[in-house]
Amino acid sequence: MTMRKTAIAVLTMLLLSMCGVAQQYTTNTNATTVKLADNVYLIHGGGGNVTALIGDDAILLIDSMFPETAAGLDAALKSLSPKPVRYVINTHWHADHSGGNEYFGGRGATIVSSEPTRAWLASRGNDYRPNAKGVPMATAGLPVVAFRDGLDVHFSGERLQMLPLGTGHSDGDAGAFLTKARIAAIGDTYFGAFPPRNVLAVQSAMERFLAILPDDVQIVPGHGGVLRKQELVEYSTALKESIRVMQAAIASGKTLDQVRQEKLLGRFEKYSTPYMPLEKFTSNLFGELSDLQHR
Ligand SMILES: [Zn+2]
Repeated sequence: MTMRKTAIAVLTMLLLSMCGVAQQYTTNTNATTVKLADNVYLIHGGGGNVTALIGDDAILLIDSMFPETAAGLDAALKSLSPKPVRYVINTHWHADHSGGNEYFGGRGATIVSSEPTRAWLASRGNDYRPNAKGVPMATAGLPVVAFRDGLDVHFSGERLQMLPLGTGHSDGDAGAFLTKARIAAIGDTYFGAFPPRNVLAVQSAMERFLAILPDDVQIVPGHGGVLRKQELVEYSTALKESIRVMQAAIASGKTLDQVRQEKLLGRFEKYSTPYMPLEKFTSNLFGELSDLQHR
Protein backbone atom coordinates (compact mmCIF):
# COMPACT_ATOMS: atom_id res chain seq x y z
CA MET A 1 0.00 0.00 0.00
CA THR A 2 1.10 3.54 -0.62
CA MET A 3 1.84 5.66 2.41
CA ARG A 4 -1.40 7.57 1.88
CA LYS A 5 -3.46 4.42 1.58
CA THR A 6 -1.75 3.03 4.68
CA ALA A 7 -2.59 6.20 6.56
CA ILE A 8 -6.20 6.02 5.41
CA ALA A 9 -6.46 2.35 6.38
CA VAL A 10 -5.11 3.14 9.84
CA LEU A 11 -7.48 6.06 10.19
CA THR A 12 -10.46 4.02 9.06
CA MET A 13 -9.55 1.34 11.57
CA LEU A 14 -9.24 3.91 14.33
CA LEU A 15 -12.51 5.57 13.44
CA LEU A 16 -14.23 2.20 13.44
CA SER A 17 -12.71 1.33 16.78
CA MET A 18 -13.77 4.67 18.20
CA CYS A 19 -17.28 4.02 16.95
CA GLY A 20 -17.22 0.77 18.88
CA VAL A 21 -17.43 -1.37 15.74
CA ALA A 22 -14.02 -2.92 16.11
CA GLN A 23 -13.09 -3.61 19.69
CA GLN A 24 -9.61 -5.01 19.28
CA TYR A 25 -7.49 -2.60 21.23
CA THR A 26 -3.79 -2.37 20.77
CA THR A 27 -2.20 -3.69 23.95
CA ASN A 28 1.41 -2.99 23.23
CA THR A 29 3.44 -1.02 20.78
CA ASN A 30 6.09 -1.92 18.31
CA ALA A 31 7.20 1.66 18.39
CA THR A 32 9.62 2.48 15.61
CA THR A 33 11.83 5.50 15.79
CA VAL A 34 12.83 7.69 12.85
CA LYS A 35 15.42 10.41 13.35
CA LEU A 36 14.28 13.69 11.78
CA ALA A 37 17.00 15.97 13.16
CA ASP A 38 19.78 15.87 15.75
CA ASN A 39 17.36 15.99 18.67
CA VAL A 40 13.97 15.32 17.04
CA TYR A 41 12.42 11.91 16.41
CA LEU A 42 9.23 10.56 14.87
CA ILE A 43 7.92 7.55 16.79
CA HIS A 44 5.19 5.48 15.17
CA GLY A 45 3.46 2.18 15.80
CA GLY A 46 0.76 1.72 18.44
CA GLY A 47 -1.25 4.88 17.84
CA GLY A 48 -0.87 8.20 16.12
CA ASN A 49 2.54 9.56 15.20
CA VAL A 50 4.52 11.08 18.04
CA THR A 51 7.15 13.78 17.56
CA ALA A 52 9.75 13.77 20.33
CA LEU A 53 12.08 16.67 21.02
CA ILE A 54 14.99 15.68 23.24
CA GLY A 55 16.04 18.76 25.21
CA ASP A 56 19.01 19.44 27.48
CA ASP A 57 17.42 17.94 30.56
CA ALA A 58 13.97 16.71 29.50
CA ILE A 59 11.81 15.54 26.60
CA LEU A 60 8.86 17.28 24.95
CA LEU A 61 6.31 15.14 23.08
CA ILE A 62 3.74 16.07 20.51
CA ASP A 63 0.94 13.54 21.10
CA SER A 64 0.98 10.49 23.36
CA MET A 65 -0.57 7.45 21.54
CA PHE A 66 -3.20 5.19 23.20
CA PRO A 67 -3.44 4.49 26.97
CA GLU A 68 -2.25 0.91 26.40
CA THR A 69 0.67 1.93 24.22
CA ALA A 70 2.00 4.79 26.34
CA ALA A 71 4.37 2.49 28.27
CA GLY A 72 5.72 1.14 24.98
CA LEU A 73 6.18 4.69 23.76
CA ASP A 74 8.00 5.49 26.99
CA ALA A 75 10.29 2.47 26.46
CA ALA A 76 11.09 3.70 22.95
CA LEU A 77 11.93 7.12 24.39
CA LYS A 78 14.16 5.55 27.04
CA SER A 79 16.16 3.91 24.28
CA LEU A 80 16.84 7.42 22.96
CA SER A 81 17.45 9.21 26.24
CA PRO A 82 17.08 8.67 30.00
CA LYS A 83 15.62 12.18 30.40
CA PRO A 84 12.05 12.52 31.72
CA VAL A 85 9.09 13.62 29.59
CA ARG A 86 8.30 17.10 30.86
CA TYR A 87 5.75 18.31 28.30
CA VAL A 88 3.10 16.60 26.16
CA ILE A 89 1.33 18.69 23.53
CA ASN A 90 -1.86 17.26 22.00
CA THR A 91 -2.75 17.97 18.37
CA HIS A 92 -6.35 16.91 19.20
CA TRP A 93 -8.34 14.82 21.68
CA HIS A 94 -8.70 11.49 19.82
CA ALA A 95 -7.52 8.55 21.92
CA ASP A 96 -4.69 7.55 19.61
CA HIS A 97 -3.18 11.01 20.16
CA SER A 98 -4.13 11.89 23.75
CA GLY A 99 -4.54 8.42 25.27
CA GLY A 100 -1.09 8.45 26.88
CA ASN A 101 -1.70 11.80 28.63
CA GLU A 102 -2.55 10.19 31.95
CA TYR A 103 0.54 7.97 31.84
CA PHE A 104 2.93 10.86 31.21
CA GLY A 105 0.95 13.44 33.25
CA GLY A 106 1.02 11.05 36.19
CA ARG A 107 4.80 10.96 35.91
CA GLY A 108 5.20 14.71 36.06
CA ALA A 109 4.61 15.92 32.50
CA THR A 110 2.68 19.12 31.87
CA ILE A 111 -0.01 18.60 29.21
CA VAL A 112 -0.73 21.36 26.68
CA SER A 113 -3.54 21.59 24.11
CA SER A 114 -5.98 23.93 22.42
CA GLU A 115 -8.86 25.09 24.61
CA PRO A 116 -11.52 23.02 22.74
CA THR A 117 -9.37 19.89 23.10
CA ARG A 118 -9.02 20.49 26.83
CA ALA A 119 -12.76 21.15 27.14
CA TRP A 120 -13.53 17.86 25.37
CA LEU A 121 -11.13 15.81 27.49
CA ALA A 122 -12.35 17.44 30.71
CA SER A 123 -16.02 16.87 29.94
CA ARG A 124 -16.16 13.73 27.80
CA GLY A 125 -12.71 12.15 27.85
CA ASN A 126 -11.52 10.76 24.56
CA ASP A 127 -14.42 8.38 23.88
CA TYR A 128 -11.94 5.56 23.64
CA ARG A 129 -13.64 2.56 25.16
CA PRO A 130 -17.22 1.91 24.06
CA ASN A 131 -18.11 1.20 27.70
CA ALA A 132 -16.51 4.41 28.92
CA LYS A 133 -17.87 6.92 26.43
CA GLY A 134 -18.37 10.36 27.86
CA VAL A 135 -16.20 9.67 30.92
CA PRO A 136 -13.95 12.67 31.60
CA MET A 137 -10.21 12.09 31.49
CA ALA A 138 -8.51 11.82 34.89
CA THR A 139 -6.97 15.06 36.12
CA ALA A 140 -3.42 13.75 35.60
CA GLY A 141 -4.06 13.55 31.86
CA LEU A 142 -5.77 16.91 31.43
CA PRO A 143 -4.02 19.82 29.78
CA VAL A 144 -2.76 22.36 32.32
CA VAL A 145 -2.01 24.91 29.61
CA ALA A 146 -4.67 25.57 26.96
CA PHE A 147 -4.58 28.10 24.14
CA ARG A 148 -7.14 29.70 21.84
CA ASP A 149 -5.34 31.74 19.20
CA GLY A 150 -1.85 30.29 19.37
CA LEU A 151 1.02 29.75 21.73
CA ASP A 152 4.81 29.88 21.66
CA VAL A 153 6.60 27.23 23.69
CA HIS A 154 10.28 27.79 24.44
CA PHE A 155 12.06 24.56 25.27
CA SER A 156 15.79 23.89 25.34
CA GLY A 157 16.68 26.51 22.75
CA GLU A 158 13.82 25.49 20.43
CA ARG A 159 10.76 27.65 19.83
CA LEU A 160 7.54 25.83 19.02
CA GLN A 161 4.74 27.78 17.42
CA MET A 162 1.35 26.28 18.19
CA LEU A 163 -1.52 27.25 15.90
CA PRO A 164 -5.22 26.33 16.02
CA LEU A 165 -6.17 24.47 12.80
CA GLY A 166 -9.93 24.63 12.92
CA THR A 167 -12.48 21.91 13.49
CA GLY A 168 -12.25 19.75 10.40
CA HIS A 169 -11.04 16.63 12.13
CA SER A 170 -11.94 17.23 15.78
CA ASP A 171 -13.34 20.09 17.81
CA GLY A 172 -9.99 21.78 18.30
CA ASP A 173 -7.24 20.73 15.93
CA ALA A 174 -3.80 22.25 16.42
CA GLY A 175 -0.51 22.25 14.56
CA ALA A 176 3.01 22.72 15.89
CA PHE A 177 6.07 24.13 14.16
CA LEU A 178 9.55 23.65 15.59
CA THR A 179 11.11 26.78 14.19
CA LYS A 180 14.76 25.81 14.69
CA ALA A 181 14.56 22.17 13.58
CA ARG A 182 12.16 23.12 10.76
CA ILE A 183 9.78 20.31 11.58
CA ALA A 184 6.00 20.63 11.82
CA ALA A 185 3.35 18.32 13.28
CA ILE A 186 -0.14 18.67 11.85
CA GLY A 187 -2.03 15.86 13.59
CA ASP A 188 -4.95 14.37 11.67
CA THR A 189 -5.97 17.66 10.05
CA TYR A 190 -4.19 16.17 7.07
CA PHE A 191 -4.53 12.50 6.30
CA GLY A 192 -4.83 12.84 2.58
CA ALA A 193 -8.62 12.97 2.58
CA PHE A 194 -11.51 15.43 2.36
CA PRO A 195 -12.25 17.05 5.73
CA PRO A 196 -15.62 15.93 7.13
CA ARG A 197 -16.85 19.40 8.01
CA ASN A 198 -16.01 23.10 8.36
CA VAL A 199 -14.09 23.07 5.12
CA LEU A 200 -13.72 26.87 4.99
CA ALA A 201 -12.21 26.94 8.47
CA VAL A 202 -9.86 24.05 7.78
CA GLN A 203 -8.69 25.55 4.52
CA SER A 204 -8.00 28.98 5.98
CA ALA A 205 -6.25 27.48 9.02
CA MET A 206 -4.11 25.32 6.79
CA GLU A 207 -3.23 28.30 4.63
CA ARG A 208 -2.16 30.22 7.75
CA PHE A 209 -0.11 27.24 8.91
CA LEU A 210 1.56 26.85 5.51
CA ALA A 211 2.41 30.54 5.51
CA ILE A 212 4.75 30.11 8.49
CA LEU A 213 6.39 26.92 7.19
CA PRO A 214 9.63 27.10 5.17
CA ASP A 215 9.87 25.20 1.88
CA ASP A 216 12.27 22.63 3.36
CA VAL A 217 10.05 21.81 6.35
CA GLN A 218 9.49 18.16 7.31
CA ILE A 219 5.81 17.70 8.16
CA VAL A 220 4.71 14.91 10.50
CA PRO A 221 1.07 13.97 9.83
CA GLY A 222 -1.09 12.18 12.41
CA HIS A 223 -0.41 8.85 10.68
CA GLY A 224 1.96 7.70 7.95
CA GLY A 225 5.32 9.02 6.80
CA VAL A 226 6.79 12.49 6.74
CA LEU A 227 5.36 14.89 4.14
CA ARG A 228 6.91 17.59 2.05
CA LYS A 229 5.36 21.05 2.10
CA GLN A 230 4.29 20.68 -1.52
CA GLU A 231 1.88 17.85 -0.63
CA LEU A 232 0.14 20.08 1.88
CA VAL A 233 0.07 22.99 -0.55
CA GLU A 234 -1.64 20.76 -3.14
CA TYR A 235 -4.21 19.66 -0.57
CA SER A 236 -4.91 23.21 0.58
CA THR A 237 -5.21 24.36 -3.04
CA ALA A 238 -7.67 21.53 -3.78
CA LEU A 239 -9.85 22.62 -0.87
CA LYS A 240 -9.67 26.27 -1.91
CA GLU A 241 -10.58 25.40 -5.48
CA SER A 242 -13.46 23.18 -4.30
CA ILE A 243 -14.81 26.10 -2.27
CA ARG A 244 -14.50 28.47 -5.23
CA VAL A 245 -16.21 26.08 -7.66
CA MET A 246 -19.02 25.37 -5.22
CA GLN A 247 -19.57 29.04 -4.36
CA ALA A 248 -19.88 29.83 -8.07
CA ALA A 249 -22.34 26.96 -8.59
CA ILE A 250 -24.51 28.09 -5.69
CA ALA A 251 -24.40 31.71 -6.86
CA SER A 252 -25.60 30.61 -10.30
CA GLY A 253 -28.57 28.87 -8.69
CA LYS A 254 -27.51 25.25 -9.15
CA THR A 255 -29.08 22.65 -6.91
CA LEU A 256 -27.20 19.94 -5.05
CA ASP A 257 -28.49 17.35 -7.51
CA GLN A 258 -27.12 19.35 -10.43
CA VAL A 259 -23.76 19.82 -8.73
CA ARG A 260 -23.58 16.09 -8.05
CA GLN A 261 -24.62 15.10 -11.57
CA GLU A 262 -22.09 17.43 -13.10
CA LYS A 263 -19.39 16.02 -10.79
CA LEU A 264 -18.08 19.53 -10.30
CA LEU A 265 -15.47 18.37 -7.82
CA GLY A 266 -14.55 15.21 -9.75
CA ARG A 267 -10.97 16.29 -10.32
CA PHE A 268 -10.33 16.06 -6.57
CA GLU A 269 -11.46 12.45 -6.38
CA LYS A 270 -8.03 11.41 -5.09
CA TYR A 271 -8.98 12.80 -1.67
CA SER A 272 -12.02 10.52 -1.56
CA THR A 273 -12.12 7.79 1.12
CA PRO A 274 -14.73 5.20 2.19
CA TYR A 275 -15.33 7.39 5.24
CA MET A 276 -15.64 10.63 3.25
CA PRO A 277 -16.38 9.83 -0.40
CA LEU A 278 -16.58 12.57 -3.02
CA GLU A 279 -20.40 12.50 -2.98
CA LYS A 280 -20.55 13.10 0.74
CA PHE A 281 -17.90 15.82 0.62
CA THR A 282 -19.85 17.48 -2.20
CA SER A 283 -23.07 17.45 -0.13
CA ASN A 284 -21.32 18.69 2.99
CA LEU A 285 -19.60 21.54 1.20
CA PHE A 286 -22.79 22.50 -0.65
CA GLY A 287 -24.61 22.59 2.70
CA GLU A 288 -21.89 24.56 4.45
CA LEU A 289 -21.67 27.23 1.73
CA SER A 290 -25.47 27.44 1.22
CA ASP A 291 -25.93 28.00 4.94
CA LEU A 292 -23.40 30.81 4.86
CA GLN A 293 -25.12 32.45 1.90
CA HIS A 294 -28.47 32.40 3.67
CA ARG A 295 -27.21 34.00 6.86
ZN1 LIG B 1 -7.78 11.85 15.01
